[in-house]
Amino acid sequence: MTAPVLTLDGLSVRFRMRGGRHVAAVSDATFDLAAGECLALVGESGCGKSVLASALLGLLPGNAQTAGRAVVDGIELLGADEKTLARAVRGRRIGLVPQSPAAHLTPVRTVRAQLEESLRELTGTPRRELRRAAEAAAERASFPAGHLDRFPHELSGGLAQRAATALALIGDAPLLLADEPTTGLDRPLVDRTVDELRRHADDGRALLMITHDLAAAARIADRVAVMYAGRIVELAAAPDFFGEPGPRHPYARGLLAALPERDFTPVPGLPPELGDLPRGCAFAARCARADDRCEERPRFTAGIACHHPVGLSTRLEGHRA
Ligand code: SF4
Repeated sequence: MTAPVLTLDGLSVRFRMRGGRHVAAVSDATFDLAAGECLALVGESGCGKSVLASALLGLLPGNAQTAGRAVVDGIELLGADEKTLARAVRGRRIGLVPQSPAAHLTPVRTVRAQLEESLRELTGTPRRELRRAAEAAAERASFPAGHLDRFPHELSGGLAQRAATALALIGDAPLLLADEPTTGLDRPLVDRTVDELRRHADDGRALLMITHDLAAAARIADRVAVMYAGRIVELAAAPDFFGEPGPRHPYARGLLAALPERDFTPVPGLPPELGDLPRGCAFAARCARADDRCEERPRFTAGIACHHPVGLSTRLEGHRA
C-alpha cells in the first residue's frame, strides 16, 4: 500500500486571546488522504475549516498553538520552520487553489508574468524556455493562451479561477488544497471549476477541498469529512453520504436536509462560540436526538462522533434527525 500524501493525526489549533481566554478552532482532526483521492471537508462558516487549511500552510497567526501531527509527503508541517515551509511546502508540496482568485493574483502583473515568475521560482525553468513553459502551465488549467497577456482585472471570474489553478499546479505539488474554490461563482462555473479540480486529482494528486458547498462536494468527492465546532464529527464515503444510507450524524443529516433540492429546512439554532464550547457534545443544543448521555463529549470512532447516530433501526422508526 502506498503511503498517504497527507496524514493528520490529532491536529488541534487553539488561539490564545486577551485575558487568558482560549479559542479551540480545530480539535483532534484525524484523517489520511491518498494520491488520486478527493476529500471534501464541509461544514458551516466559522467551523474551523479554513484554520485547518492555514495550519497546513504554516500561515497561522502568532497567537496560535498547535498540537498533533500533520504530515505531507514526508514533511511534518506543524514543527517545520518558515524556511522549510517557504522552500519545500508552499507551492512544492501543497498547491493552494485560493478562495478569491482575483485577490490572490497580483493586480499589476499579467497572468503570463505571474506564471513565469512561479516557474522560475518553483522549477528553475531557464529564461529562454519561460514563454513556452508558461503556455504549457496555462494549458494544464485550461487557461486560454490568448488571454495570458491580460491583467487580473481583465479576466472573468472563471478565467481568474483557472489562472490561480495554473499557478497552484506549477510546482507539481502532490497535494492540492482548494479553500472554498467556488465562492461567488454561479452554478455552471462551480461545476466547471470543481470538475477541473477533480481532473487534477485523477492525474495523481491528492485533493483536499474545503467547502460549504455540498453540491460541489457531491459532484467530485470520494469521501466527505463533516466539521462542526472545530471537530470532525463524521467521515464517510461520498456515495454513502450523499446517497443511501445517507449521513449518520444528526448535524450532517441537517446539512443535507437544508439543501434547496432536498427539504430546504435549515438546521435550527446557531453553532456555539469556539471560545465557549460546552463540555459535552457541541451540537446538543441543536440536536433532536440529544439526551443525558450527550453531556459527555462523544469520541470519534468508526467514522462518527455521536452517542446516537442514525442507523438502520432508527431509519425504520422514522427520521428523527
Ligand atoms: S452526541 Fe447526542 S447531541 Fe451530539 S449529535 Fe449525537 S445525539 Fe446529538
